[in-house]
Amino acid sequence: MKPVIPRSMLVLGQRFKVVQTRNLRVNGSDVKGEHPNEVVDVLGLTDSDIQTIYLETDQGDDKLAETFLHESLHALWAATGLRVTHGEEEEQIVKRLSPIMLDWLRRNPAVYTALTGRHSYR
Ligand SMILES: [Zn+2]
Repeated sequence: MKPVIPRSMLVLGQRFKVVQTRNLRVNGSDVKGEHPNEVVDVLGLTDSDIQTIYLETDQGDDKLAETFLHESLHALWAATGLRVTHGEEEEQIVKRLSPIMLDWLRRNPAVYTALTGRHSYR
C-alpha cells in the first residue's frame, strides 16, 4: 500500500517540509564511496538547516516508507544537537535503525498506541 507521506512534520517545534520529487540527485562528494565530481541518484535527502526532507518519488511503496523514516531520523538526529557521531557514523546508525524501526512499528500497532495514547493516527 502506498504510504501517505505528510507534507510537513514537527521536530521539536520546528516544521520540516517534506517534498516528493523526481530525479533526486546530490554531488558525489556528499556520498561515501562516490567520486566527488559525479552526480549521484539518491532516494532521500534531509537538509536540517532549511528544515526540508526530499523524497524520490520513483521508489517502491515499502522503500518510500523506509526512506521517509530514514530521513526523519536524520532530522531527529540534527535536533538532538548530538555531534559526537556525525557524517558517516550518523549515516550508518540511521541506515540500520530505519528498516528495523519500520518493521517494529508495522508489526506492533499496540506499540504506537502505547507511545501516543491513540489507537490510530487520526
Ligand atoms: Zn541517510
